[in-house]
Amino acid sequence: MSHIFTRRQMLTLLASQLGVLWLATQGFSQQSAKDRAMTSAESTVRVFSVEKDAYIAVEKISRSEAEWRKLLTPQQYHILREEGTERAFTGALLENKERGVYRCAGCGNDLYHSDHKYDSGSGWPSYYQAVAAENIITRSDRRLFMVRTELLCSRCDSHLGHVFSDGPPPTGERHCINSAALMFHPL
Ligand SMILES: [Zn+2]
Repeated sequence: MSHIFTRRQMLTLLASQLGVLWLATQGFSQQSAKDRAMTSAESTVRVFSVEKDAYIAVEKISRSEAEWRKLLTPQQYHILREEGTERAFTGALLENKERGVYRCAGCGNDLYHSDHKYDSGSGWPSYYQAVAAENIITRSDRRLFMVRTELLCSRCDSHLGHVFSDGPPPTGERHCINSAALMFHPL
């Protein structure tokens, strides 16, 4: 009758099962610690730096709306945080032809190089490509009864403008960007 457990064997079995359960719990909490470490690693973003001519890891920017309001002008806040659009032909950087890099007004992330700026006639600064695909995020925008592709900064998720497919070669893209979403840094 070896398959029938004695009371002692039952207790031993129960203890070992509790042990397994305890180890599983430990493993779970270790997994959670690992998850937390991964979450903190995910709070950095890999972007291209024009000045360094290399990809760099920068801290992802996450601010409360109150912090954004303190940091930005009312116009910048409206464009960057409320997906607003400045009036055509009013932006300070529309006619800028200096050599340099256009950075995000919300966080300083490099967005566009003067080499890729062109006159689209639209009334907003226009570029046929970003400094790197990693520096921007695209998102479908279905407001105003149209489907457009919205452009956001990959570091701080601020709204920049929209991208259209009527741009010049080599990309055929027109990145239509609000001047107030940009800060110009001469090179
Ligand atoms: Zn930004």
